[in-house]
Amino acid sequence: MTFRENANISTGRARRGGGGGGMAVGGGLGALLLALVVMLLGGDPGAILGGGGGQAPSQGQYEDLDECKTGADANENVDCRIQATMLSLEDYWTQVLPDAQPTTATIFTGAVNTGCGQASSQVGPFYCPVDEGIYLDSAFFDQLEGQLGAKGGNFGEMYVLAHEYGHHIQNYTGALKASQQGGTGPESNAVRVELQADCFAGAWAGNAAKTKDSEGGALLEKLTREDIESALSAASSVGDDSIQEKMTGQVQPHKWTHGSSEQRMGWFMKGYETGDPRQCDVLRANSVEDYN
Ligand SMILES: [Zn+2]
Repeated sequence: MTFRENANISTGRARRGGGGGGMAVGGGLGALLLALVVMLLGGDPGAILGGGGGQAPSQGQYEDLDECKTGADANENVDCRIQATMLSLEDYWTQVLPDAQPTTATIFTGAVNTGCGQASSQVGPFYCPVDEGIYLDSAFFDQLEGQLGAKGGNFGEMYVLAHEYGHHIQNYTGALKASQQGGTGPESNAVRVELQADCFAGAWAGNAAKTKDSEGGALLEKLTREDIESALSAASSVGDDSIQEKMTGQVQPHKWTHGSSEQRMGWFMKGYETGDPRQCDVLRANSVEDYN
């Protein structure tokens, strides 16, 4: 997906920082804190620490992305792309669900303090409902294309952000709370909430070309076939079966928290093809396979 060269992206909701320096990796983890964090991947629980008692970082730790001004910047630079994607997501979701407050993406390196405690980059991109923030390590996209085997492309990265924004929307619809009821497994609420976030990402993708910058101009060009393939490849690479296979060499459905590669792609496409988040009712679907 390509941003319109002259689109104004200078007011996007992304920033660098929130550094959690000095943290020790592998420390204790409060169950409450873990339960409150929703991740893109299965995640490494040891990567989120209870230290800090859930205090949000102080303001001075952030740095605005002053270099990001136009769509051309977003097409060139990954941080600017994050800022511009957040603008598009906000424009879309404010129309669909006006009650949802805007959220901010914090790009960090190594570790970060959040309202849900400290987290290291090992946890992957995540959403913290306590401070309503999206957090992602700047190196994650390299991991997505390297270790996790996604084929690459900008739109796969944008899917990741759109998935996390989906969790923010779930925080307002009440769906996020359901993820903590009923443990793990292929039909669990945990999986259903993740698949709904994928479907929400697809619904945004189906409408993204219509989203506007602060001057009323289009933010994005139309999606291409390559864009969709990039998103599907990213969604597939973060499926529980795919990750388990790569990390442990075996697939164990009873431990699933996010759904299979097929299911993640299926729900993304359902959102994309209908362009309607109301079609994303995974929580009440008879089966998590009901995306056709
Ligand atoms: Zn997620």
